[in-house]
Parts: sequence; C-alpha cells; structure tokens
Amino acid sequence: MTTEVSSPSTPGDDAGSGLVLDGNAAAGEFSDVLAHDPTTVTVRCGTCSATQAFAQLRAYLGGPGTVLRCRECEAIVARLARTPRGTWLDISGSSSWLFLPRPARA
Ligand SMILES: [Zn+2]
Repeated sequence: MTTEVSSPSTPGDDAGSGLVLDGNAAAGEFSDVLAHDPTTVTVRCGTCSATQAFAQLRAYLGGPGTVLRCRECEAIVARLARTPRGTWLDISGSSSWLFLPRPARA
C-alpha cells in the first residue's frame, strides 16, 4: 500500500514528510545493513552513551541466548536468542549502530 503524506503524522516526528510505503520498500536497504560484518560496527550504549566497537562489547555466551554488554557501564546493549519459533534480536539497549561503508571492490 502506498500513501502520500502531506504532513508529519506526529508533531516533532523527524521522519519527515513525503511518500510513506510499507516495510517492503526498505527491505533491500535493511538487508544490506544486516549482512554487514558486525565486528566493523560501532555501537552506542543506550544507558551511558559510550561508543565502542562491537568487538569491544562484553559477550556473555552459554545462556539461553547471547548477551552483549557495554564495557563502560555493563548495561545490556544487545541480545540474540534462537528459539524454535525463530531468532530474536533485541538491540533496545543501544541507541545507535554505525555501519561504516564497505571498501570498494576492485
Ligand atoms: Zn554503557
């Protein structure tokens, strides 16, 4: 479904105005990002705002899922769990993930 939006639906919403499509329209862009090597990502902690390379997060393995904690404040920034129903990814403990451009292919 395609909807033309003439004004933001929520005051202060910074999503901008313009063409609003369903999630399929963003699938390619998200697919590209999710296929990134996570060790090249910089993560900002949602609790203390510290930025750190993914590889600098503290990884807790061996539980029912994998937990990544901030090295500065120990807050959980990401969780991944595989269940019979599917794989769950929770990044609600982080405020942003920076994916650097991939090197150009020769
Ligand atoms: Zn933190």
